[in-house]
Amino acid sequence: GNESETEPRAGRRETKVDPEAQYKTERGNGKEHLYMVVIGHVDAGKSTLMGRLLCELGQVNKKTMHKYAQESRKLGKQSFMYAWVLDETGEERDRGITMDIGRYLFQTKTKEVTLLDAPGHKDFIPNMISGAAQADVGLLVVDATRGEFETGFDLGGQTREHALLVRSLGVNQLAVVINKLDTVSWSKTRFDEIVQKLKIFLKQAGFKDNDVSFVPCSGLTGQNLVAPPTENELLEWYKGPCLLEVIDKFRTPPRPVAKPLRFSVNDVFKGTGSGMCVDGRVETGLANVGDKILICPSKERATVKSIIVDESSKNVVFAGDQATITLAGIDIQSLSVGNILCDPQNPIPVSSKFEARIVVFNTKVPITKGYPVVLHHQSLVEPAVVSKLVSQLNKNTGEVVKRHPRVVLKNSSAIVEISVSKPIALEEYSSCKELGRIMLRVAGVTIAAGLITKILAVN
Ligand code: GDP
Repeated sequence: GNESETEPRAGRRETKVDPEAQYKTERGNGKEHLYMVVIGHVDAGKSTLMGRLLCELGQVNKKTMHKYAQESRKLGKQSFMYAWVLDETGEERDRGITMDIGRYLFQTKTKEVTLLDAPGHKDFIPNMISGAAQADVGLLVVDATRGEFETGFDLGGQTREHALLVRSLGVNQLAVVINKLDTVSWSKTRFDEIVQKLKIFLKQAGFKDNDVSFVPCSGLTGQNLVAPPTENELLEWYKGPCLLEVIDKFRTPPRPVAKPLRFSVNDVFKGTGSGMCVDGRVETGLANVGDKILICPSKERATVKSIIVDESSKNVVFAGDQATITLAGIDIQSLSVGNILCDPQNPIPVSSKFEARIVVFNTKVPITKGYPVVLHHQSLVEPAVVSKLVSQLNKNTGEVVKRHPRVVLKNSSAIVEISVSKPIALEEYSSCKELGRIMLRVAGVTIAAGLITKILAVN
């Protein structure tokens, strides 16, 4: 609050700048920065929609658009030109799918939005997880075409799984694009039908009604993306905001800058100069150029040599920022994806065993003691086992209904002990939401999501 600015708290060194004050000075005037992940079933029209949005906002130059238009005409797939804005490499183009997580930036009235484009293909869910783990808000795209919404929403489709995934990764605001409405003559009945189905499901998935909005669009024709509709059939019944306004209305989550530094590493590469580069997100706290940091779980030390945010060089990064940090005094073997950089005075716990409260979505085989899983924690992916079933919980109230159950079935909630194949850096959810969430996958399917409730056997 305000008091801390005039009255330094006891124990704080005079020389140390107050993190909240530093944040205010550095970021107080600019637009709020928001990270948005785009999710939805394959072919829902995500790439086309976002490509068109970026074009409408003038983020793609005319020459590039012209090139894409020509190339796609040659292939006889003209509608792909917008999608290509997001799919830069030839390999992805040939396959006609979005593979990696690209990053794109655009502006709304009050915000600067970084787009984390999530791939829709089934095999690529691990990539999507790392995109979603960095996101503040989500854009769920569904195809309104008759039969197609149903395919994506019912079993086997990715609409539900993606929504559950982003929710369990901490995304709690969602804009739902009811897309390709041009294929159903802008039918209000069809729009309402889809909204009704999604509302019920999203509520069960843990989204609050007020945090979800629905927008009728066509990515292909550009209807209702950055300006009010022009189609009469849509104008007749839709008086709400266009997609850009909906995005502008998202609330920026609080940035916990006063907490100890936690930076999750999503990528490691060699820089052009000396030093190693890491890409990732500041979950909590801040880092200044020149700061000494500790890399966990290896507990190696390094120094922050330089910081890049959105292609410009900075002296400091804050909670909520995605950045590339160059580290001095460390070699590549000591760094890997999933590492956490932290404050050496206040390091993150490292352990290979913890208790978690999990919600089991769908699993063919009930979970029993010794059940092997793949643990996802931020960008980290590690083999693990469910080493103990502690208690079965009432899914709605969280009360213990049975101690030491022999099995945990699908659609239920439980406290389990998880043993990871090697020590990892993690936090209890109660002390750090951002690093206290996990996901369990088996054979390419997400079977459960959960919160770390107790870290056991701290190294
Ligand atoms: P993604 O897999 O979700 O990224 O979907 P794409 O953007 O690649 O689109 C899948 C297919 O749907 C392509 O053939 C697009 O041309 C088509 N498509 C995308 N948006 C629209 C739309 O608004 N209306 C119509 N009619 N077709 C669309």
